[in-house]
Amino acid sequence: MNIVLFGKPGSGKGTQAPRLAEALGVPTLATGNVLRDAVKAGTPLGREAKAFMDRGDLVPDQVILGIIRDELAKSEYARGVILDGVVRTVPQAEGLAAMLEGLGRAVDAVVSFEVPDEEIVKRMSSRTVCSTCQTPYSGRQPGDTCEKCGGTLGRRSDDEPEAVRNRLKVFQAQTSPVFDWYRRNGGRLVVVDATGAVGDVTQRVMHALGR
Ligand SMILES: [Zn+2]
Repeated sequence: MNIVLFGKPGSGKGTQAPRLAEALGVPTLATGNVLRDAVKAGTPLGREAKAFMDRGDLVPDQVILGIIRDELAKSEYARGVILDGVVRTVPQAEGLAAMLEGLGRAVDAVVSFEVPDEEIVKRMSSRTVCSTCQTPYSGRQPGDTCEKCGGTLGRRSDDEPEAVRNRLKVFQAQTSPVFDWYRRNGGRLVVVDATGAVGDVTQRVMHALGR
């Protein structure tokens, strides 16, 4: 079972990914992690990616998809994968479909985590991060003390309401075409209400997937 997780920043994809992995018995693959690992391991594509990063450029989709393809060839992904953060644009959706086809696989379902914008703004602005060790907290105030290192908690500037609303606008513009693309190309779109308790959201996803 090959699943793509899809949702606004702050919609809880990253929280749900490991829970779904356990429930479905397939590993997760997050773009940021495999990219970091490939760069560290110095694979040919990892070195290519590093050259872009060193110049301060975005790593092109084709390089990232190549790195994901190398990873998916490993035996632990034989039964499927939960892809987190892989598809945000139409070219990425197209590239992923072509890459999976080359492996004799396909996207079985795209799970979209639906959270109203104002709920996301609320979630982000209740998030603080330790300015020393970067541990994230939820429901703590800026100026509180970090339990791990005694550092001071602060709010990241891109978690401020105005910045969050801007990111949501950019996301909306990029991603509604992705939805249309999957509809036209016969992908199975699973839309899940991602508000409420973490465990409830996991259950909704499993139910929507027919598990
Ligand atoms: Zn700390």
